[in-house]
Amino acid sequence: MSETVNTFESLQQGRPTGPLVHGYEVIIGFETHAQLSTQSKIFSRASTAFGAEANTQACAVDLALPGTLPVMNKGAVERAIQFGLAIGSHIAPRSIFARKNYFYPDLPKGYQISQFEIPVVQGGAVEFFLGDEKKTVRLVRAHLEEDAGKSLHEDFIGQSGIDLNRAGTPLLEIVTEPDMRSSAEAVAYAKELHKIVTWIGICDGNMQEGSFRCDANVSVRKPGQPLGTRREIKNLNSFKFMQQAIDYEVRWQIEQIEDGLEIQQATVLFNPDTGETRAMRTKEDAADYRYFPDPDLPPLCISEQWIQTIRGQMAELPRTMATRFQADYGLSEYDATQLTQSLALASYFEIAAKASGQAKLASNWITGELARRLNGQDLGIDQSPVSADLLSQLLTRIADSTISNSAAKQVFDALWEGSANVDAVIEAKGLKQMNDTGALAAIVDEVIAANAKNVAEFKGGNEKALNALVGQIMKASKGKANPQQVNDLLRSKLAG
Ligand code: ADP
Ligand code: MG
Repeated sequence: MSETVNTFESLQQGRPTGPLVHGYEVIIGFETHAQLSTQSKIFSRASTAFGAEANTQACAVDLALPGTLPVMNKGAVERAIQFGLAIGSHIAPRSIFARKNYFYPDLPKGYQISQFEIPVVQGGAVEFFLGDEKKTVRLVRAHLEEDAGKSLHEDFIGQSGIDLNRAGTPLLEIVTEPDMRSSAEAVAYAKELHKIVTWIGICDGNMQEGSFRCDANVSVRKPGQPLGTRREIKNLNSFKFMQQAIDYEVRWQIEQIEDGLEIQQATVLFNPDTGETRAMRTKEDAADYRYFPDPDLPPLCISEQWIQTIRGQMAELPRTMATRFQADYGLSEYDATQLTQSLALASYFEIAAKASGQAKLASNWITGELARRLNGQDLGIDQSPVSADLLSQLLTRIADSTISNSAAKQVFDALWEGSANVDAVIEAKGLKQMNDTGALAAIVDEVIAANAKNVAEFKGGNEKALNALVGQIMKASKGKANPQQVNDLLRSKLAG
């Protein structure tokens, strides 16, 4: 164990530090369990569907009853490979399954099949933005393992029950180096990781159902000191709790140290009701688990050809796509990052941008008006009442000067309420800009004639007087004139 800590120690050299808390540096490493989106379990044909009646989806293999043998689910391995490729890891050509032995009521077989010495995914890194600062969190490994069952504490009858449906559900445990330096950075990492696994479709990311659970290892130290002893906050299943739990834990550890006490390595739980972390058990060492290679499973062998096949089938990744959006559509890095928050959002943007030929306008409307409306009603982009095609029709009418930006907002309102034809809305609401130069020229002439004072001032060099005239003309046209056209027309008439 001390050897592991020394390894982490040396890996931390040269890493930037984060904001100090009462003079202490915060060190965080994550272990995340992502439930893989396979239909059946990792070593059996039992279903992984969520929400079934208790104990209806655990089969003899999941419970390791005598005479059964586990058989590797190819889909789980494919998903692990996809993950490794997505974050630039080494995919082990040969990895080993091991038994991790421990007793717990939700683990009736007495051991969990996991990977220990040689995991399938090794190294790699997750990159993300914290504000406008780019961060890189390095991964140690990601390994395949099976989930355990679940204890259900039925307080109303004062008893606990065991539901083994989850036993044997495939998990990818993703382990980082202790590279994070604040709760905010930890949450940003977790969000990025969540985005990656859902983007490539290896995990449904449903945190309430436990499909994506994070354990945060937290320690503090005075800058320049060796790494402090960590405590591991188990099973954080919301980003909000994650931040609260880490912040509480950091304060607690600093208080302990300031009081002259030592931190004991422990596993702790966060209680959202009190906002506190509480020790659950002292931490086991790897040796306590008596790991040994599972004699029922041969080594997992992955050919280079298999990896290449999977690579060829993988969709474009968020970061690659963001870079392409900057190059292809001239977007800023910020906008490109915003638009690649999910695959659904990115495809919405691309459809609207391509159909209208107005990428920048599309980006502004999607990250502005549309995002505001969606957030207001807690809707995802895939639930937007305004489709990408419809938005692109609207953008086209802004771009060809049929309507002004402010009129476009009114059209958007109507689309949001269910109208499906942009031109019909423009017509019905009389929002068309006056692009008829003849009619506009008549109004301009009238306004010039009626405002001799402003005209004289403008001719005398007062630019502001022109704005007053533009305002009058816009008013006379009931807002339908194109402001730019009015400006041009006025200038040419007054220049004469
Ligand atoms: P275990 O095998 O007990 O789970 P590991 O050595 O695999 O422990 O480390 C688990 C996690 O703890 C990793 O994410 C690692 O980055 C993190 N970690 C290790 N040392 C520290 C430390 N001193 N402070 C914070 N996190 C740490
Ligand atoms: Mg671990």
